[in-house]
Amino acid sequence: MITSPLVELFPSLARHARTATRLHPTGGEVTMYDSHAGGPLLWPDGEPWPVCREKREVEEQVPLPDDLVRRMRDPERREAAVRELGGGYTGWADTADGRLVGTKTLWRRHEPHNPLLPVAQLRAADVKDLPRPKGTDMLQVLWCPAIHKGPPWGPVVRLRWRRQADVTEPLEAQPVSRVDHARYALRQCRFEPERVTEYPPRDELPVRLRQQVEAWGGGHDAMAVAPGWKAGGYSTAPVTGYTPTECSTCGGRMKLALVIATSEAGEGGNWQRPGRSDPDEPTGVLIGRYGSLRIFVCTRCPGTPSIEDIQ
Ligand SMILES: [Zn+2]
Ligand SMILES: [Zn+2]
Repeated sequence: MITSPLVELFPSLARHARTATRLHPTGGEVTMYDSHAGGPLLWPDGEPWPVCREKREVEEQVPLPDDLVRRMRDPERREAAVRELGGGYTGWADTADGRLVGTKTLWRRHEPHNPLLPVAQLRAADVKDLPRPKGTDMLQVLWCPAIHKGPPWGPVVRLRWRRQADVTEPLEAQPVSRVDHARYALRQCRFEPERVTEYPPRDELPVRLRQQVEAWGGGHDAMAVAPGWKAGGYSTAPVTGYTPTECSTCGGRMKLALVIATSEAGEGGNWQRPGRSDPDEPTGVLIGRYGSLRIFVCTRCPGTPSIEDIQ
């Protein structure tokens, strides 16, 4: 590991150091036994596959009032009529049979319930910084690839913690998820885990240190926190700002388990491996506004409570 130039500038940062495992997703063949993004999961045959029962966003065609349609077909009154569409409609369309219909964004349940899509499988042996509850050595992440009412507005995420040795008869034919939101579907990727040392982003620093860092003004966060998919370590919160992640069961601080990121690129090439370059959007996933989804867990409490947010 390389000593960060940040610690040379601010030696007291050293005591806040944390390791993280960057995952470096890269396209390639995967099996249910590997750590990977978007591939098949090591799932016990006979264990119910999780499904989504939540309402998700759909665009639907709805009939328009006859009077409005008449005015929309009249070139002179059309403009005013289209303006009237504003209330609740997202637009209008000509159907194949020549009817004029409105479109609306509505919240509907999946019919039938939607089997969740595998997002990531992390073996503790590969991902040293994965926080995990006692007795487990694997994390599986699944989500429903649709926009659901938040917060956070996005995929519904479910975690499964396992001991790999418990899965003696794995499920061979895994259910197929209906994908409503194409950018939540993943290309299968292998991981190339790399351990790095990170430091708190500016917002998480003790006051004195934070003031020093601010006075320096040298792009601290981009040097302190690695970009891209990773387990453990620190993360920035450019959308919400820093908020402590407390476990609703024990009140303790939750740990960052996983960051699922749109891009692997960091600012200014701070985290680039010598001679290696990451594909920019290896999994094809787009989170929020080119951001990331963070998963925090409490490994002390029964059931391993977790929360997610989108940054
Ligand atoms: Zn759903
Ligand atoms: Zn807890």
